[in-house]
Amino acid sequence: LRRILIIGGSDAGTSAALRAREVDPAARVTMVVADRYPNYSICGLPFYLSGEVGDWHALAHRTASELEGHGIELLLERRAAAIDPAGRTVTVAGRRGRAARLPYDRLIVGTGAVAVRPAFAPPEVADAFSLRWMDDAHAVKGALAGRRPDSAVIVGSGYIGVEMADALTRAGLKVRMLARRGEVLRTIDPPLQRLVRAELQRNGVEVIDGIEPGAVESRDGKLVLRCSPRESLEADLVLLATGAMPESSLARAAGLETGIRGAIRVGRGMETGVEGIWAAGDCAETWHALLLRPVYLPLGTTAHKQGRVAGENAAGGAAEFAGSLGTQVVKIFELVVARTGLKESEALAEGFEPLTIQIETPDHKAYYPGATPLHIRLVGDRPSGRLLGAQIAGDRRAEIAKRIDILATALFHGMTVGGLLDLDLSYTPPLSAQWDPVQAAALAWLGARTPAR
Ligand SMILES: Cc1cc2nc3c(=O)[nH]c(=O)nc-3n(C[C@H](O)[C@H](O)[C@H](O)COP(=O)(O)OP(=O)(O)OC[C@H]3O[C@@H](n4cnc5c(N)ncnc54)[C@H](O)[C@@H]3O)c2cc1C
Repeated sequence: LRRILIIGGSDAGTSAALRAREVDPAARVTMVVADRYPNYSICGLPFYLSGEVGDWHALAHRTASELEGHGIELLLERRAAAIDPAGRTVTVAGRRGRAARLPYDRLIVGTGAVAVRPAFAPPEVADAFSLRWMDDAHAVKGALAGRRPDSAVIVGSGYIGVEMADALTRAGLKVRMLARRGEVLRTIDPPLQRLVRAELQRNGVEVIDGIEPGAVESRDGKLVLRCSPRESLEADLVLLATGAMPESSLARAAGLETGIRGAIRVGRGMETGVEGIWAAGDCAETWHALLLRPVYLPLGTTAHKQGRVAGENAAGGAAEFAGSLGTQVVKIFELVVARTGLKESEALAEGFEPLTIQIETPDHKAYYPGATPLHIRLVGDRPSGRLLGAQIAGDRRAEIAKRIDILATALFHGMTVGGLLDLDLSYTPPLSAQWDPVQAAALAWLGARTPAR
């Protein structure tokens, strides 16, 4: 009987547990989870806070009893405190402080990431919230329901910052957002960032550049954010969307090697350097399918796939994680922005000779009602013609996720930009054109590479 112990019960841990039980139905699979919410959709938290998802229970991908139905033993509200790789045990703090030592044959670390809490807003400052866990969401919801705040400042302008700008506006707050380094959603290039800013502003979100928060204090029931240079902002609620870092402290203390941004070093089978221990998800490095080297790209999509590989291998299999391309899509009010692969600056830094084009084209035949402009950027390697990356922005009804996924698939298979023209893509006037917009972008790229004489 193989004892497979998993630390963490979110995307990576749950995928690992389910796959391990599939591969070895006789294995005893135990998942140790620090909180009460195994297999919850963290990605769904903004939509619960906006009010679009009414009941937080709906965010559970599977209930605890469904997981148990798969033969997974759950130890909830238990925090793993130490791993002993030589003795093959994990020390787990009990609910009432009593520690237990759990033996394992195979261990999977899926401890995820933690929100980076900036030093100016220590956890004891009430009404200044990070957003990572279900309990964080309960705290924000409690503040929204209780004191009925009117205004919020969001510190940070990454994808969680912009999703929360949308969510808190929908919840009835006047939102101001501090753009970090003067950028909004810096995973995309500046021309598309401008569309994001415009959409935020169109919906009443004020985007503020060039000031850095240095302290936050409570005054007369309000929070005052003191910023440099000599600016102060008042709000009822502050949301800290200042990034996340891998939760690898437990692994590091046990002698597991860490690398990029402190994430756990893993091989393509998600094995760590220590016999009998795998790691997956936001706590681990990610193989990049285009760069062919490890990077840190924490996403729910990746955590699921890595978890599945780790679970299969811990159960005796020989799976490999195929790699990530950083494919991502975000909705900001009525705008959707998506990306895959490399931006031009990233391609340059990697030694490619990128050529980038941007087109604006209707999402479907202009004569059919409701056509809306799509903005597509393609990055290709000029000498080889290889596709390197893509970004798309446009109206949320414009099938942007489908289109970025076409490009992600092409990238994954190492296609050239010219090769996109050969793809047999679907068409009907209300949804597309004979050359789908992604193919129109490819035509534009080819034209720019070899200008017509
Ligand atoms: C607001 C928000 C929105 C997001 N939206 C998207 C999106 O739209 N698309 C997307 O692809 N990704 C999104 N993400 C990222 C995605 O949520 C993460 O990539 C994913 O949750 C990672 O899963 P994980 O299992 O690796 O780690 P986590 O989800 O971080 O889970 C870690 C698990 O480990 C447990 N744990 C940690 N330490 C211990 C310990 N010592 N003992 C026991 N248990 C422990 C935790 O309780 C938890 O169960 C979003 C993230 C946030 C915060």
